[in-house]
Amino acid sequence: RSKEQGRGRGTAYHADMDALLRQRMNLERALRSAIEEQQLRLHYQPVVDARTAQVVGGEALVRWQHPERGLLMPDAFIGVAESSGLVRPLGAWVLRAAAAQLARWHAMGLGGLQISINVSALQLREPEFVESVRAEIDRYGLRPGSLTLELTESTLLDDSEGALRAVAALRQSGVMLAVDDFGTGYSSLAALKLVRPDRLKIDRGFVHDLPAAADDAALIEAMFGMARALDIEVIAEGVETPAQRDWLAMRGGHLQQGWLWSKAVPPDDFVAAVEQHRRAAKR
Ligand code: C2E
Ligand code: MG
Ligand code: MG
Ligand code: MG
Repeated sequence: RSKEQGRGRGTAYHADMDALLRQRMNLERALRSAIEEQQLRLHYQPVVDARTAQVVGGEALVRWQHPERGLLMPDAFIGVAESSGLVRPLGAWVLRAAAAQLARWHAMGLGGLQISINVSALQLREPEFVESVRAEIDRYGLRPGSLTLELTESTLLDDSEGALRAVAALRQSGVMLAVDDFGTGYSSLAALKLVRPDRLKIDRGFVHDLPAAADDAALIEAMFGMARALDIEVIAEGVETPAQRDWLAMRGGHLQQGWLWSKAVPPDDFVAAVEQHRRAAKR
C-alpha cells in the first residue's frame, strides 16, 4: 500500500475515497433502475408454530436479481437504499408486491395466511405512508389484520412525533404492528410502552447461544413474561437447532422463524412449504 510506502499518502486516501464514492454512486444508480425495471424480488420466510409444525405466516424479504451479480441479499443494498432515500420507492414496491401476493394466496385457498413486511424509518415518516398502506389493502381486498408491518425500536422512537402519529393511524387501519429485532435497541421497553405492538420478534442474537447461555436464557424468559403480561405475541427469530426449538417451545415460544424450519424462499416454494406442513398436520 502506498500509505506504508510513505509517499503520496493524501493522494492515495483521496483515490480510495473517490473509488468508494464512485462505487456508491454506481450502486445507487443501478438500484434506482432496478426498482423501475422490476429486478427486485420478494422471498418469503415461513413463520412456524412449533407445536404443530404448521406454517402460520411468512416474512417478505427483499432480494435484487442483479443482471450480472446474481441474486443480492439486502445487506448488499439496503444501506445505500436508506442513505439515498431510495428505500422509499423500494418500500412502496415491497408493499405493493406483498399485498398482491397475499391476495393471490388467499384466492388459492391459503386462508389464514399472514404476511409481514419490513418498514424503514424513512418510509414511516413519509406523510403519505399510512394512506399508501390503506390503499394497497383496499386495492387487493385484503383483511387489514392479515398484513403485519415490522418496525425496529429505533424506527419507532427516532423522531417520535411523526413516527408515533403514523403508528396510531396504522393501528386505526387495522394492520398488525410488530417490533423487529426486539432487544437490540436502546429503548426496547419504551418502544413497547409507546406502541403496544401486536407482536414482538426476539432478535436472533438472543437465540443463537441457546440453550447453553444462561444470560440469554434469562433475558428471553423475561421477554416472554413481559409479552404475556401485555398480551403481545412473540416470534423467536434465528432458530437454527432442534435444541433451540425445543427450549423455546417449552417456555411458550412456539412461534418461530429460522433456518431450522426454512430459509426465505421464492413464492412457489413458500406455497409448497405451507401445503406440506398442512398435509403433515392432517396425518
Ligand atoms: P430482519 O427483518 O430481521 O429479517 C431477518 C433476517 O434474518 C433475514 O435476512 C433472514 O434471512 C435472516 N434469518 C432468518 N432465519 C435465520 C437463521 O436461522 N439464522 C440466521 N443467521 N439468519 C436468519 P435478510 O433476508 O438478509 O434480511 C436482512 C435485513 O434486511 C432484514 O432483517 C431487514 O432488516 C432488512 N430487509 C429485508 N427486506 C427488507 C425490505 O423489504 N425493506 C426494508 N426496509 N428492509 C428489509
Ligand atoms: Mg423483519
Ligand atoms: Mg428481525
Ligand atoms: Mg433487521
